[in-house]
Amino acid sequence: GGMKDLSVEEKVTVKSKNLDVLAEYGKSTRKKSANFVVIGHVDAGKSTLMGRLLADQGAIDRRTLDKYKIEAEKIGKGSFALAWVLDQGSEERARGVTIDIATNKFETENTSFTIVDAPGHRDFVPNMIAGASQADFAVLVIDSSVGKFESGLKGQTKEHALLVRSMGVQKIIVAVNKMDAVQWDIERFQEIEQQISAFLTTAGFQPKNISFVPCSGVLGDNITRRSEDPKSAWYQGRTLIEELETSERFTHALDKPLRMTIGDVFRGGVQTPLSISGRLDSGSLQMGDQILIMPSGESALVRSVEVDGEPSDWAVAGQNVVLNLANIDPIHLRSGDVVCRASAPIKTTTTFTTKVLAFEHLMPMQVDVHRGRLHVPGRISKLVASLDKASGATLKKRPKVVAPGTVARVEVELDQAVPLEAPTRVVLRAGGEYSGRGFIGIKFPCMKRAI
Ligand code: GDP
Repeated sequence: GGMKDLSVEEKVTVKSKNLDVLAEYGKSTRKKSANFVVIGHVDAGKSTLMGRLLADQGAIDRRTLDKYKIEAEKIGKGSFALAWVLDQGSEERARGVTIDIATNKFETENTSFTIVDAPGHRDFVPNMIAGASQADFAVLVIDSSVGKFESGLKGQTKEHALLVRSMGVQKIIVAVNKMDAVQWDIERFQEIEQQISAFLTTAGFQPKNISFVPCSGVLGDNITRRSEDPKSAWYQGRTLIEELETSERFTHALDKPLRMTIGDVFRGGVQTPLSISGRLDSGSLQMGDQILIMPSGESALVRSVEVDGEPSDWAVAGQNVVLNLANIDPIHLRSGDVVCRASAPIKTTTTFTTKVLAFEHLMPMQVDVHRGRLHVPGRISKLVASLDKASGATLKKRPKVVAPGTVARVEVELDQAVPLEAPTRVVLRAGGEYSGRGFIGIKFPCMKRAI
């Protein structure tokens, strides 16, 4: 006899229901999931507008909202209450106001929406790349008030739009915000619409995937209800929420091999199970499945599944999930790792070639390579060729340097092996982690492995 060795845990088993997940999905009445990212210049009103959306959709209860209002009025900033619905982090807290936050999910009749990378995280670019890699569409918030639109254009508006397009986001809804501040001036709206569409088209958005909604986040006009201001009568188009609803027409690769990038790892404890969260990029899974974690190559058992916060027997591509796991040591689970299956594993690589659109001068140089939430140091080891933007034909082999605005094929080496496969979008950044302007290139859809 003697003591039981507690370090050797017994293997957990879960009986799989062996469901035909795609058939289950076909019959399911569950709401569709849609993720979007909110972008725009600082102070454009992103937080206020999202707060309004969450509050109007009942994602936040009246009492909490009232509490925020009282707190906000105490410091003489009544309008901040809405912004607090989202996690603002830093600034407001620095003023000694503590607020326990909040949510980034809300529902309509047909759709369960998640705002990925809510605004307010000021160390922005890595978060935004991660958010955009999971977004089905983007909401670009523009401050229409005089002078502000212009300074926003010089600021982050364009950079953010380029970045989300680079990460594969195809559809963009432009909230032309603070229309109350310009008395719902139709000419102002049209001028903004014209300038922003011109820019977004050059950035690679198709005109049919761009829409504009004149609105006021602070008043709630044209957000979830139509504006009643007579000055706004010229606009009879969709409200923002109607635009969001019509946006979920994307298709996800349900029948492709399972891929899910791990967002967060919850280590679990005595009462709580070990779990990981993320969005299924492709494929499907169910309770009782064996999964493979890359790059560690460790396997784990899916004990149970949650989809949008509710227990479910299965999950499919496009859904936000939490997987409760067993039979794996949490040291093998890291944010940015990829969940797949032993039957169709994702390969890892330390070198690849990629077609990039240069934002700055490219030459053999150190870069950070971002793939969704994952970012690793590496370098551009070779400039293979500069390419014709339209046809992709080689213009010049082995150029010494690639100028901004040029498309090129480059070879990249990474300091460590990462899971990568075609087609994957990566963003290369040079300079400080948080410089926000350091990213230098965009990956286009097809990536060839160098070996
Ligand atoms: P963010 O930095 O983009 O998240 O912007 P905030 O939501 O924090 O808003 C910045 C400022 O603009 C705040 O003072 C808001 O009260 C104000 N603001 C936001 N929305 C509106 C709007 O629709 N109309 C007007 N007039 N002001 C607004």
